[in-house]
Amino acid sequence: MELKDMSLETFASALASTEPTPGGGGAAALVGALSAALCSMAGGITLQSKRYAARKDSLSPILSRCEELRERLLELIDEDARLFLPLKAAYSMPKDDPDYGRTMENATLGACRAPLEMLRLCAELSGLLRRLSENCSPMLVSDVGCAAHCCRAAMECAAMNVFINTRSLLDRDKALKIENEVRSLLSENGAEATAVGEKIAEGLACKGHEAMLMCGAPVAAAADAETKKRAQRLGDTGVTPTIALVRVGSDPDAVYYEKSASERCERLGVAVRKVTLPQSASQTELMSAIRGLNIDAGVHGILLLLPLPERFDEKAACAEIAADKDVDGVSPGSAAGIYSGTGEGFAPCTAEACMMLLHHYGIPVSGAKAVVVGRSLIAGRPVSMLLTQEDATVTLCHSKTQRLAEVVREADIVIAAVGKGEFLGGDCFRAGQTVIDVGTNYDADGRLVGDVCFAQASRRVRAITPVPQGVGAVTAAVLAMHTVLAAERLTGKQK
Ligand code: NAP
Repeated sequence: MELKDMSLETFASALASTEPTPGGGGAAALVGALSAALCSMAGGITLQSKRYAARKDSLSPILSRCEELRERLLELIDEDARLFLPLKAAYSMPKDDPDYGRTMENATLGACRAPLEMLRLCAELSGLLRRLSENCSPMLVSDVGCAAHCCRAAMECAAMNVFINTRSLLDRDKALKIENEVRSLLSENGAEATAVGEKIAEGLACKGHEAMLMCGAPVAAAADAETKKRAQRLGDTGVTPTIALVRVGSDPDAVYYEKSASERCERLGVAVRKVTLPQSASQTELMSAIRGLNIDAGVHGILLLLPLPERFDEKAACAEIAADKDVDGVSPGSAAGIYSGTGEGFAPCTAEACMMLLHHYGIPVSGAKAVVVGRSLIAGRPVSMLLTQEDATVTLCHSKTQRLAEVVREADIVIAAVGKGEFLGGDCFRAGQTVIDVGTNYDADGRLVGDVCFAQASRRVRAITPVPQGVGAVTAAVLAMHTVLAAERLTGKQK
């Protein structure tokens, strides 16, 4: 019985036996034939539907060629086994037989023939697959995807069955010519089959998939409600929680932030004291203003609006703020509190906003693998510490991190704080991840974008924050919340 006429069970038993045929070549031909058969099925069922009748002209020639390819590939199972026989015979010839070299060379060349033809046929099939994927019913596209991967597998397997022979050919020019053809078929047509399969898989996986959007607004609203309640309670005891907003000069970003922070605080019952120093003020004057606020019992929180004019030493000014009033977590005392977990001072509002988003949307942190991209003192580093405190296993990445996309893909939780617009593309993400995008960047069209390419990531991951309306919206609420907490601590009126 010919191998192609055997039942699958008999064929597989023959393959599993200790006989050298059928072997890898036969298996390659069978997988190629299965690929062609799947194409015939997908195209045939599509044509049965009246809805796709108009595609008859484009589909019919594909189908008839797929059938021819299937037939021929099945025949090659037996041909491959037959072509092995002379090689088997040559192996048992005495090496000193004057015909040994020529016989072996011819038999080896003959053994290349079947797998080489398989490769050529599958290469042709890969082109048909692409056309079929564009014309068949969407209900059958997964079968075409399977066919595409089978086609690629058949090509890879057939290639190995060529190479095992070409390597022992004495005619190296001929061997090289054959190997070059194989490589070219693999790199062009094999890659085409893979691309068809991957495109189909991508389309199927993404259809209907939308990541949960972790908007900042409900998180901020819940925080604001709690802040307002606690500010009221403090007010009932005669304490008005108060924040001092310290600004030097009139940098537009600082002025804008001052305005929005004041409005929010006042709306929630947190009084605002604006301390404005002229552009011409000295570092000493700024330090002395901060020191004054540190000892002012009527002030519970201090926010230094950044950036300061260039000639100022920002680090020194931040270091001057007393940790117990440092509501944006910029002082060394706050940093020590976060890193030691003692609770001294405050975490930077942005870092805390990331954690609040995770909590609000019910993302498990304990035991999760978290990857933080960016290690600044205001965002990446503190959030990595807060995650650690909540028992996540944290990897902190930066500009020298190798194979960043690979590392990010490993994470359950990704925090992006890089400061480069749409820097983390789709290749960094996979299904099941939660992505917090801290970035605020402007693209060439003046659009506000995050550090993550939202369009690509949101098609893959489980949950993601938008930009704008994500982390930034919560950060603003944290400032007022911290001020109330500072007032409670400083006056001994904790909840
Ligand atoms: P930053 O101080 O400039 O820090 C950027 C970090 O990204 C650095 O640690 C840097 O690594 C890392 N990085 C740069 N290129 C990288 C690369 N190719 N691969 C991996 N890491 C790379 O920025 P930031 O102050 O943390 O701010 C980050 C972003 O968050 C910005 O877009 C900012 O506007 C935004 N932000 C938003 C809020 C908010 O409330 N929404 C608040 C603060 C900041 P090195 O340390 O090796 O240089």
